[in-house]
Amino acid sequence: MSVAILRLGHRLVRDDRTTTHVALVARAFGCQKIYMTDVDDSIKLTIADVNDRWGYNNFEIEIVKNWKNVLQKWKKNGGLVIHITMYGINVDDFFKKTKKDNDKILLIVGAEKVPSEVYKLSDYNISVSNQPHSEIAALAIVLDRIFNGQELRLDFKSPKLKIIPSPTGKLVEKIKN
Ligand code: SAM
Repeated sequence: MSVAILRLGHRLVRDDRTTTHVALVARAFGCQKIYMTDVDDSIKLTIADVNDRWGYNNFEIEIVKNWKNVLQKWKKNGGLVIHITMYGINVDDFFKKTKKDNDKILLIVGAEKVPSEVYKLSDYNISVSNQPHSEIAALAIVLDRIFNGQELRLDFKSPKLKIIPSPTGKLVEKIKN
């Protein structure tokens, strides 16, 4: 299964944390790649720093100017394009009843209002409830439906720090590579 994210838009300062968190969720939950528009290279440094400390999982960031090219290329290569939006069909109905088998999925999330073409160019528009909320929450739930919970048990390569899960405190192992 290969899942990539296309994050559309970024309002300077206001979206800084949200944009970083979208990328962190994509990395932590096992996506291969995130395409981002309207951001500068500092996001790459932030994720490189997280990789350095917490490990690697072949996660890539590409900053793109033309989101439509990404979407069209994805479709041309046989991938499924799913836009995550409050206006779409219910995520569970989609994965239980509608989804065709396809192991290459591009998930689109917005920062603010996305261009109206996104709704038409995507193969499907799916929602995580029909109330407005957050792209971070919506993305996490959609990834959980795709990976069936396995995204919470991934092993990252060559970490400097590794958490030893504890019900009563913080245990972190420092690993000498
Ligand atoms: N009106 C927008 C929409 O189309 O969902 C809400 C904009 S919201 C600030 C930014 C992003 O969060 C949206 O582009 C969408 O990807 C995601 N989002 C917000 N609420 C959602 C929901 N209920 N279901 C799925 N995605 C949602």
